[in-house]
Amino acid sequence: MTSIHFHPTNETLALYASGDLDSASSIMMSAHLEFCSHCRHRVADMEENLARELDLSTAEPLSNDMNAMLEKILAHSPEPQLETNEPTATYLELDNRRFHLPRVLQNHQDQIGPWTRLPGKIKRAHVSTAGQSKMNFIYMDCDSVLPQHTHQGQEITLVLAGEFMDEQATYRPGDFIIQTSEHKHSPKTRADQDCLCLTLLDAPLHFTSGLATLLNPFSQLFFR
Ligand SMILES: [Zn+2]
Repeated sequence: MTSIHFHPTNETLALYASGDLDSASSIMMSAHLEFCSHCRHRVADMEENLARELDLSTAEPLSNDMNAMLEKILAHSPEPQLETNEPTATYLELDNRRFHLPRVLQNHQDQIGPWTRLPGKIKRAHVSTAGQSKMNFIYMDCDSVLPQHTHQGQEITLVLAGEFMDEQATYRPGDFIIQTSEHKHSPKTRADQDCLCLTLLDAPLHFTSGLATLLNPFSQLFFR
């Protein structure tokens, strides 16, 4: 049985299976699939259905639509292949600790920036990706709190190690959490448990409670 309670939506899984998801979101999805056999099977089924639709059409000349779909499927490679013989980093280092690095990022270590400190006991390492949204590793040390905030766009959080909680739930490795402007939350860790996440943000966070609203000018810090 899986202990993962939060998964991508069906729509997102379908976009991933057809190769229509943007590259940053695809990285988040690939990393989730590494944890989640449930979603892996669903994507495999979707890919099989797409392939079958193509098969049915082979008796007829391919339409432009089908050609485009075929190209997309051929271009879609969920497991990026090694292009060079450079050693592949399979872990991420932070303060003498090593965390398993999602496979999808193992060949892209050079695009993971240095760790920087954020307010609280929180650290961030930026991941360069194509597109407008911002990907970061976020490390919350034991007993840390991020002030309550909402999201001006969408935030996807994938727990990689440890756990954190907010007003709604406790999140564990593999959980794929989607927050929008409708959600207000204050993530925190227990006194004896740290947490490493990979996050994808559409827009800066907006802090909503008390003194933390003073952080808003700095919320860009979370969005680089
Ligand atoms: Zn899943």
